[in-house]
Amino acid sequence: MEYISTRGSGPSVSSKKAIIKGIAEDGGLYVPSDFPFLGPDPFFECGQSSYADKAAKILRAFLTDYLEKELISACQAAYAENFDSPLTVPVRVFKDGTAVLELWHGPTLAFKDIALQLMPHLLSIALQSEREKYEVVILVATSGDTGKAALEGFADARGVRIFVFYPHEGVSEIQRLQMATQLGRNAGACAVQGNFDDAQNGVKQIFSDPVINKKLAGFNFRLSSANSINWGRLAPQIAYYFTGYDEMVAAGKIKRGQPILICVPTGNFGNILAAYYAIKCGLPVTRLICASNRNKVLTDFIRTGIYDRRREFYKTESPSMDILISSNLERLLFELSGRQSAVVCEWMGKVTSLGWYSIPPNALSPLQSCFYGGFADQLETLQAIREIFRNQDYLIDPHTAVGYRVLQMYREETGDSTPALLTSTASPFKFNRAVLEALGRNTSGEDEFTLLKELAIISSQPIPLRLAELKTRPELHKGICAKDEMAKVLCQFLAME
Ligand SMILES: *Cc1c(COP(=O)(O)O)cnc(C)c1O
Repeated sequence: MEYISTRGSGPSVSSKKAIIKGIAEDGGLYVPSDFPFLGPDPFFECGQSSYADKAAKILRAFLTDYLEKELISACQAAYAENFDSPLTVPVRVFKDGTAVLELWHGPTLAFKDIALQLMPHLLSIALQSEREKYEVVILVATSGDTGKAALEGFADARGVRIFVFYPHEGVSEIQRLQMATQLGRNAGACAVQGNFDDAQNGVKQIFSDPVINKKLAGFNFRLSSANSINWGRLAPQIAYYFTGYDEMVAAGKIKRGQPILICVPTGNFGNILAAYYAIKCGLPVTRLICASNRNKVLTDFIRTGIYDRRREFYKTESPSMDILISSNLERLLFELSGRQSAVVCEWMGKVTSLGWYSIPPNALSPLQSCFYGGFADQLETLQAIREIFRNQDYLIDPHTAVGYRVLQMYREETGDSTPALLTSTASPFKFNRAVLEALGRNTSGEDEFTLLKELAIISSQPIPLRLAELKTRPELHKGICAKDEMAKVLCQFLAME
């Protein structure tokens, strides 16, 4: 299978090339040239195999230039003891029938581990077989979750270095400690005096600065990115929708072939796009429910066909969904336009220059028949956490709570009682403060470790080891730099000066 750019002008490439390059030369995103048919039962020959083997089976249909044994060993290395559930992505069924797909059993306790634990293996294999002579430097700007997941995934990966910039005082103390204590000779992180946009702009400047790139090349380095527009981040996410469906069948909630709903708390549109691709491959799903927080640009888009980023940005208790430009939406637009890249270019050009675009009725109607958009505000989100804890004796994080609330709204609005799979994107321990506030505790002035303990007592669950051990691990990356020093810090990390 080949990969083509959503903007249409670049040549098609293999999946290995797409993963190495990240973004196409014309600025578009790589999409598969067609969708393999996998149907509702792709694992029927797999018996009791592990999640790793099942994931490899789904990936084989997309990453056709990788050897089967390469994919199996990459998945087995990625989905092993570093996940604290033997099922990797277990499903929990509520009394009300909702099936919750727990995607946060990896080392950083958020769903990004599923892709970022695997992607470094995929990249290393690709670099070897493409005979890349450069050493790849993965450069990341993060508002919290992605940075740690990328550090953890790429630490000690062959032929790759990883460096992360995050806003000084712009991440939670847990998130800061997670990054500052990162091990790995090839890994580094630094705080930037500024907010997330400053860190992101600094990284973008480094990417596009010809002088720095030339200097890097002189030292045999090439920059690359690990954000969710890379096909290597998206492809691994398709697999868990198939295993989640399987689990619902195994739990007796549905019969094989029976359609379901999938509800996804959404920010950059990567996770829900993977579900859309699973449908394209034959997973029986009648509706994708796109759940947003107060930054509801996607809800408005799905309801009206107008994408308008010219609006106030809100900081919410579900920070990983605080996004006004959902990059991966471009891949959906490509499908909605009937794969007409000229149309995608027009819409993307408008959102850059004017801040908005609208899609015509012939694109809006397939959008609305496949997607439902809704949003939950802070009160509704915290209420959902409280309600589920009371009724199901189960704690969810604020991102998952947004999803749960919007699923409820969908059911109330439409009367549709089709069984649903809700993706749970983070451990409640990772967002301990918001969760405790939802349960009526006053957390002001309390430090993170006290809060973790309190949450453990309330939920009768142990504090995840990866968080508990942060208290005693040495802080290795304590640097803070000014906005205009980022390139210098990177060069120092790479021992270029
Ligand atoms: C990244 C993230 C999301 C949003 O996922 P997208 O693929 O960007 O839509 C939701 N919840 C959590 C906890 C996340 O870390």
